[in-house]
Amino acid sequence: MNETDRLTADVLVVGGGTAGFGAAVTAGRLGLDVYLVEASNKIGGVMAFCPGMPWGAAYPCNTPIGGLMTELSDRLSAMHPPAAAKRPCTLENFGPEIQYDHDIATLTMFEMLEEAGVDVRLNTTAVAPVMDVNRIGTVDFFDRSGSHVITPKMVIDCSGDGDISAKAGVPYTLGDGAGNMMGVTLSFQMFDANWDRIFADADPYFRRFAAKGIAEGRLHGDLAQLYLMKGFYKDTVFCNSVVIRGVDGTNPVDVARATQEGRRRCHQLAQFLRSDIPGFENSRMTYLGPTVGVRETRKLEGAYKVTGEDLARATKFPDGIVCCDNPIDDVMRASSEMTHDAMVHDGAYYTIPLRSLVPKVVENLMFAGRIICADPVAFASVRGMPQCMAMGQATGTAAAIAIHNGLAVQDVNPDEVVAALQAQGINGLGKEPLQNE
Ligand SMILES: Cc1cc2nc3c(=O)[nH]c(=O)nc-3n(C[C@H](O)[C@H](O)[C@H](O)COP(=O)(O)OP(=O)(O)OC[C@H]3O[C@@H](n4cnc5c(N)ncnc54)[C@H](O)[C@@H]3O)c2cc1C
Repeated sequence: MNETDRLTADVLVVGGGTAGFGAAVTAGRLGLDVYLVEASNKIGGVMAFCPGMPWGAAYPCNTPIGGLMTELSDRLSAMHPPAAAKRPCTLENFGPEIQYDHDIATLTMFEMLEEAGVDVRLNTTAVAPVMDVNRIGTVDFFDRSGSHVITPKMVIDCSGDGDISAKAGVPYTLGDGAGNMMGVTLSFQMFDANWDRIFADADPYFRRFAAKGIAEGRLHGDLAQLYLMKGFYKDTVFCNSVVIRGVDGTNPVDVARATQEGRRRCHQLAQFLRSDIPGFENSRMTYLGPTVGVRETRKLEGAYKVTGEDLARATKFPDGIVCCDNPIDDVMRASSEMTHDAMVHDGAYYTIPLRSLVPKVVENLMFAGRIICADPVAFASVRGMPQCMAMGQATGTAAAIAIHNGLAVQDVNPDEVVAALQAQGINGLGKEPLQNE
């Protein structure tokens, strides 16, 4: 019989990815008693699974989105030597992004959680909520010492996959609605590469090299475009190329199989880079991800669904909680197609509404990050890490308002949340749109 712990908290944050980090730090700073449970041994989520992946879309209108994302990158940039920098993206339609030292960023995120007084439980998995009519009464979770129960006033689901929300009865769709989910990716970096020679090539996707590798049977057929980006440190290259299709990211067996297949393809690709692309001759593979990064699984039903039309119209919602100008980054859903079409045009941006993070019925649950309520087109844009962090920040803020006023999440005044986020330094909200810098 496992030992059972009984805990209480103001807020339980499920999942320590960028969204969970944002939610937990914010709720902690607002004086709440917060537990953050994270199933893996690190915070960061996809950021930890794909080490070195840049923080994209943090500069709509060339202006920082503000809030925790900007605070974190400023803190890293101010270090000696700097541990982060704003740089242009070498791929088409992506704006500037933040490159950073992965280990120092992770350390700093842990420090910010500590400073906010958050009780972080790693290697800890939330299993199921126990409902009390329209509220989550308790949540069962486990770690290696056994099973435990927590009674939170509020649950913020930042798990990427939304297991707890789904079990609490929140309706959802999978992937594009027909069950096709974007491909998963195992990433790695090449060290001791020669940037000047590699990025002298006119094609940012190295298609001519890839075609030769595929034709000769040395690369998998899905590697028609090689996503190679300059890493944070000189002569390091981040390789976001190996995509495995048809994987259900909610199924751990599928994810483990995809990771093993990914290891094979990454090794093959690293050998190909060394032998075929000028500038990689003396480089070596490092920072192979511990597991594949999962882009898309459940999309929860919220009070509002963000749509592709909202993005095309550059909609600024009255309850907008963060600005975004990411392209439509669609990665191998039903076919081997990859797109990153600009949805909003130069200098334009849209905002993500708070209502897309609030369920219709459950009164003490919110969700943030890639489980946002969005249609498949909008999802392909809204899911960047800076936006996920800000969604977490918004739900942490709304949680504090709900708890302090004894309100259901559906009754929280969005104007109050937006005003609080503005006071926390998030830019471009309410009646203060971003100006092109
Ligand atoms: C390959 C790839 C490339 C990408 N490229 C970029 C890019 O260049 N720039 C960019 O900004 N964004 C990029 N993205 C998108 C971005 O990384 C994700 O959308 C974002 O990180 C999602 O954050 P999240 O916090 O919502 O979820 P996740 O990062 O998925 O975090 C969820 C966390 O919850 C934990 N968890 C799950 N279930 C439970 C449970 N039951 N109990 C406890 N813990 C649980 C998981 O272990 C995980 O740590 C990319 C994504 C992928 C996969």
